[in-house]
Amino acid sequence: MKTIVLKFGGTSVGSIERIKKVADIISSYKKKKNKVVVISSAMSGVTNDLIRKSELLSNYFDKAEYDTLLSTGEQVACALLAGRLVHIGYNARSWLSWQLPIITEGPHSGARINRVVVKDLSKYLKSGGIPVITGFQGINEKMRITTIGRSGSDATAIMLAKFIKADECIIYTDVDGVYTTDPRQYNQAKKIKKIFYDEMLEMASLGSKVMQPTSVQDAKLNKIDIKVKSSFVNKSGTLITGLKKDFSDQIITGISSTKNDAKITIVGVKDKPGVAASVFKPLSDNLINVDMIVQNISLNGKETDLTFTIKSSDIIKTEKLIRQNKKISFKKISFDKNVSKVSIIGVGMITTPGISYRMFQALASKKINILVISTSEIKISVLISSKHTKKAISVLHKEFKLD
Ligand code: ASP
Ligand code: MG
Repeated sequence: MKTIVLKFGGTSVGSIERIKKVADIISSYKKKKNKVVVISSAMSGVTNDLIRKSELLSNYFDKAEYDTLLSTGEQVACALLAGRLVHIGYNARSWLSWQLPIITEGPHSGARINRVVVKDLSKYLKSGGIPVITGFQGINEKMRITTIGRSGSDATAIMLAKFIKADECIIYTDVDGVYTTDPRQYNQAKKIKKIFYDEMLEMASLGSKVMQPTSVQDAKLNKIDIKVKSSFVNKSGTLITGLKKDFSDQIITGISSTKNDAKITIVGVKDKPGVAASVFKPLSDNLINVDMIVQNISLNGKETDLTFTIKSSDIIKTEKLIRQNKKISFKKISFDKNVSKVSIIGVGMITTPGISYRMFQALASKKINILVISTSEIKISVLISSKHTKKAISVLHKEFKLD
């Protein structure tokens, strides 16, 4: 007998019809004689609505009350779902996080789960019951309700899977898996059957929005395999898992791209220790996120050029901070607002030589100019003019046989 954690996102329980459908999905797992633990998000739109209400009452709404308020969305969804399961003949009950309890640490709205007490839950599962547990929340040492960050129900599911020692953790959502690249950008995108945590982290933080990066990190740390599936269509999903020896000969798993990036070049800055730190300190103090950074080799040993990328929306602020910065001197500063970062991602590149060459050659064949290059062990990123993004994705998708 397997223990399976099933998590349903907001759109999956977004209406009465959807809740009936979800109860049927749960039933299909019960019929196969599994122990089933259900985690639910709030019905879609509900959490946002609660946030709006708090904002109408105060700009500084009390943090503890804010979490108590936001946690109610999940209580509604879980009670509705458990009630429906009872209606179709199952032994089911809602279970609020403080009733287990799910114990969290850290600040309100950004707490993290560090323990789940599963004694009563295990007994209930053994007796054949279906617990329907509220995602996204817990209690802290003061016995106050906490929440764990927007979209946090994924993390709840992963931590439950860990503490109950589940055999499987399935995340039901409104897309049927992770794709090789954004299907809206490129219609030959294919669903990925299996992706490793690290690849998923790169894909997630580079723009593919299937799962929150911190939840993927939790899954990786706790070695929980995750299946992402759609609750709308019955199709095989994507497995997110740890690196095994037998990984396939697929070198590149996916391609991601960013929008609204800007490139800044500072020409003729002094080439001496501490200059890069002086350039970036005010940016970091002002929470401007710097992404790719390249410093050229100094030709005369005195001056060099520094290029980096930021979000386009930060351009005005960044220019001001650099011009005001008394600690640095330079000849010229230039901006390019319409650039995108296109990345190829895959653990296969660790062991396969020549990937960067193939990437650059493929881009060259389409006359796409590369502005900046950066690499990590499992990723190669290039900065190009935004107008070439689609073309770049398509030529790379073909080059690495993802079509
Ligand atoms: N209901 C919460 C939110 O909207 C948590 C979640 O959906 O996972 O952020
Ligand atoms: Mg959600």
